[in-house]
Amino acid sequence: MPKAANLREAFAADLGRERDMIPAMAKALIACRCETPLGDTRAMADAVERLVGDVPEIDFERHAGAPHIVNLVMRVRGGRPGRRLIFNGHMDTFPLVDATRWTLDPAGEERDGRLYGLGSSDMKSGLAAILFALRHLARHRETWAGEVVATFAGDEETMGEMGSQFLLDTAPHARGHAMISADAGSPRVLRFGEKGMIWLTLQARGRSSHAAHVHRGDSAIDKLLAVIGELQKLRHFTVNAPAAVTAAIAEAAAISEPLSGAGESDVLQSVTVTIGTIKGGRLRNLVSDAAEATADIRIPIGVTVGEIEALVLGAVAAHEGVECVIERRFEPTWTPPDHEVIELLARNCTKVIGAPPVRNMRVGASDARLYRRAGVPTVVCGLTPYNMGGADEYVDIGELLAVGDIFALTLAVYVALCVEHFSYGSGLGLPYSPGLNHPNSYNWGWREYGNRAEAGDCLNCLKNTNCRSRFC
Ligand SMILES: [Zn+2]
Repeated sequence: MPKAANLREAFAADLGRERDMIPAMAKALIACRCETPLGDTRAMADAVERLVGDVPEIDFERHAGAPHIVNLVMRVRGGRPGRRLIFNGHMDTFPLVDATRWTLDPAGEERDGRLYGLGSSDMKSGLAAILFALRHLARHRETWAGEVVATFAGDEETMGEMGSQFLLDTAPHARGHAMISADAGSPRVLRFGEKGMIWLTLQARGRSSHAAHVHRGDSAIDKLLAVIGELQKLRHFTVNAPAAVTAAIAEAAAISEPLSGAGESDVLQSVTVTIGTIKGGRLRNLVSDAAEATADIRIPIGVTVGEIEALVLGAVAAHEGVECVIERRFEPTWTPPDHEVIELLARNCTKVIGAPPVRNMRVGASDARLYRRAGVPTVVCGLTPYNMGGADEYVDIGELLAVGDIFALTLAVYVALCVEHFSYGSGLGLPYSPGLNHPNSYNWGWREYGNRAEAGDCLNCLKNTNCRSRFC
């Protein structure tokens, strides 16, 4: 087997060869529109296939979650068995709104070091960075162990049931030992978790009467407002988050808030209640007989959907004539911020952009939550979005090239788990940490680990990570 140092040098030396392809690949993906609704990914699947079709080492599979939602699994196998690292992204985008306000071509245009276009930041540039890393690894296939799989899904903008969730449920290689999502974000802020959510509709029924004769009526709007008032009190719900989460959010604030908006840290650590729509009544001088409101409740780490739901239903039950329908719910999810895959990504972000990234939660939901729910440690590291969801959406091309490098280097280290062929402190340029009580990809010494943890644990660990050794 090649020595780790040689591996790393080979990867790094070769990295520049296709780097200039990344903006062109992103542009090819932006040119292929895939707006929600309808979120038809068929043409995008063809466009992606054209970008990797010349690399025979990449196995290309289509998995249709619905006739118009084609999801992709691209798999590269190393020369030896080992762990599987997943890169995930979504192919669908927001719809093109404010078409007249775009000053550049929404179908893709480069100007002044920026790449403009609908979906450029969310997240076709991220997809291009993944494809670059995959192509790069494929060329060095024989030298590493394990598998690298890219899952490109549809249906993300509408919560992923027919996209990433469908792949997790049905595609044999869509799950792995860790996942990196390239969804919109920043290589300066690695996102290790996401808030949970409840979507609900409140319906109030009353009895109408003339406003001069309120004693004969029963106002649906008054009842609705009373329950809404109860829901708004949830904003003060006490949150007991694990210390690691609270500390990470506090540490991240100085970098994360300027990128994501002042107040982000508070929002990440509290229950938020948004009454999105409200309607009711027929006339100003008529007591209302019906009223309806919809709400979006976001739930931080340390609180469960069940706790909030019980309070919501309690408030509703206390007000006769009001009903509640819960349309959607999912729990908050997180991966420990010091997890191996996040450490590894952080080291390569530092190497490429010259400053260590912070680790934070993410306010919005992405398919990352589906992977965490499936038990796969997951981190989001994407491109900084500018004007996302509006006119002249763009990414910085310098950052796009950097994210391509970060992904390729991270993949390279993760899969270069040629056990026993590394020497500590050299090769990967990462320090040996004797305090660690578990093996990981940059501290990988089975003999040392065995001495500390006993052979039984060692073999279990090999089994859990699907690694083979001559002992099992
Ligand atoms: Zn996205």
